Amino acid sequence: MISQDKIAEIRRRASIVEVISDHVTLKKAGRNYMGLCPFHAEKTPSFTVSEEKGIYHCFGCQSGGSVFHFLMNYDQLTFPEAVERVAKRYGLTVEHDGRRGAQETSEREKFYRINERVAHHYHKILFAHPEGRKALDYLKARGVDEATARKFMLGCAPQTGSGLATLFSQEKISANDACRLGLIGQRDGQKFYEKFFARVIFPIVSPAGKVVAFGGRVLDQGLPKYLNSSETPLFHKGSTLYGLYQAKEGIRRADRVVVVEGYLDVIALAQHDISYAVATLGTALTADHVRVLSRYTKNVTALFDGDDAGRNAASRSFEIFVEAGLLGRAAFLPKGDDPDTFVRSRGKGALEAILDQAVPLADYHFSWLEQRYGKTLEGKSRIAGEVSRVLAKVNNAFEADLLVRRAVDRLGIREELLRRSNTVPQRAGFARAHDTVPSANMQQSRDDVAERSLVSLMLRLPGVVESIAGKPEARQWFEPKWGAVVDRVATQWQEAGRIDVARLLEGLPVEQASEIAALSLERETLTDAECARMAEDCLTHLRRKHLKGMKRELRLAIRTAEEQKDENAKRERMLEWQDLDRKERQLERRKLEPKPPAR
Ligand SMILES: [Zn+2]
Repeated sequence: MISQDKIAEIRRRASIVEVISDHVTLKKAGRNYMGLCPFHAEKTPSFTVSEEKGIYHCFGCQSGGSVFHFLMNYDQLTFPEAVERVAKRYGLTVEHDGRRGAQETSEREKFYRINERVAHHYHKILFAHPEGRKALDYLKARGVDEATARKFMLGCAPQTGSGLATLFSQEKISANDACRLGLIGQRDGQKFYEKFFARVIFPIVSPAGKVVAFGGRVLDQGLPKYLNSSETPLFHKGSTLYGLYQAKEGIRRADRVVVVEGYLDVIALAQHDISYAVATLGTALTADHVRVLSRYTKNVTALFDGDDAGRNAASRSFEIFVEAGLLGRAAFLPKGDDPDTFVRSRGKGALEAILDQAVPLADYHFSWLEQRYGKTLEGKSRIAGEVSRVLAKVNNAFEADLLVRRAVDRLGIREELLRRSNTVPQRAGFARAHDTVPSANMQQSRDDVAERSLVSLMLRLPGVVESIAGKPEARQWFEPKWGAVVDRVATQWQEAGRIDVARLLEGLPVEQASEIAALSLERETLTDAECARMAEDCLTHLRRKHLKGMKRELRLAIRTAEEQKDENAKRERMLEWQDLDRKERQLERRKLEPKPPAR
């Protein structure tokens, strides 16, 4: 844990415009700065940074937050890591309080440092050691030049050992730590041996640029051909992608990513100037992998071999993408080729042509099912069962709807068959005209707009905070989500006497922080008087909503009392109801009275 005071100090010293300018070109526009958003592809800037408020927000993709959220998002850092990064940039030191947190952070930092030392060690051997020359020749034979080898920090672990023991004693690295990182192993409880030998080494780097593990490929015919570090505190195969750190910028530029299977595929593609490829690490693609990629682009294409195994894998991956909330695409290489051999023999253009022809995984999966189960009645019902099983995993109602219609169009299955299982979310938004759902939705969204507007106005004008804080009953007019934000703002106002948006966002998850950042940029051009009047309207709206809700509950209570023949209770509830009704009518009257003009 880093102390709150320290975090506040770092935030005060840091300029969000400076930190973001390290990565994005910003231009002054009015009171804010604008630039091209690094989180989605765009041609006109909608990425806004406010120095004054210490926040950023993109009106295109809705990402936003404080300077720390920016780094968390941009480099996939944890909150403490982001704080440290900013501190370092401004030459501030971060001391930790709370022993456990401090120990954990420093242990991770220690592990990262060890891995980094070891990666440099293997890398040096590649260029200096006689066996390193052999590895370099191997890479050259596969078309990998020295610049690419350096970009991916490739290394070599010689047959006879790389001398890790000497490195560890020089750098005072304990054998125990090296064991936990899977760099060395222990035989019969005594002698240590190096895990990697006679291999080309591929350091596996986190999106933030830290070495988390190593992969190795044999130089001769030895087995296993590929070897990865075991799972360690820093390395989880199921969510780590090889090459993501090096591909980050390429993915953002191209607004797409291609997923392949091996390190050498990624490297061969990079060598041919396709800089947006990543690879899984000896495991099939998981939903976690896809979720990680979706932070960089929504256009994810998995590249498969053209054989049966590749086609089956493509069909299976539909479900994985659905789980991760993305509609991916599949591209196929000619039979017998892998990305490495293909790009070397046919070149960049041919590979890009294949990627451009990628098919939506949904369509691919549907036609694969059709081939498998046939077009008979029985086949169709099995397909329907399979499709609705997968669609049950779709979280977003709109997407579910889209997929249902696609399945209906492509497979000629009746829609009821797909929805019958009740596992598929019901139609979103555009329900039938006589449904009561849309009007309820509209009412709900009007209430939500009022609550959001109030939060945004509170961030804009302290007077609004005061008027809400001065009405303790107002707190219950908000839904829990916005009520919590209102509390946060009011508490800050009471404690500090001012509203510091960046500070409010601290500790909030990125999605919520970005929503509030957006609200704080919304009403900048309104005058104070306009803000005050708007707040008044919103409060009246919420108060009326609240009164209506209470009246509804009282009506139920009255009916219950009638059924139970409890005359006393009934009379009391009736009086309460009349009181509320009177208040509501007062509110309506006030609404009709002319308002003094805004000054
Ligand atoms: Zn954006």
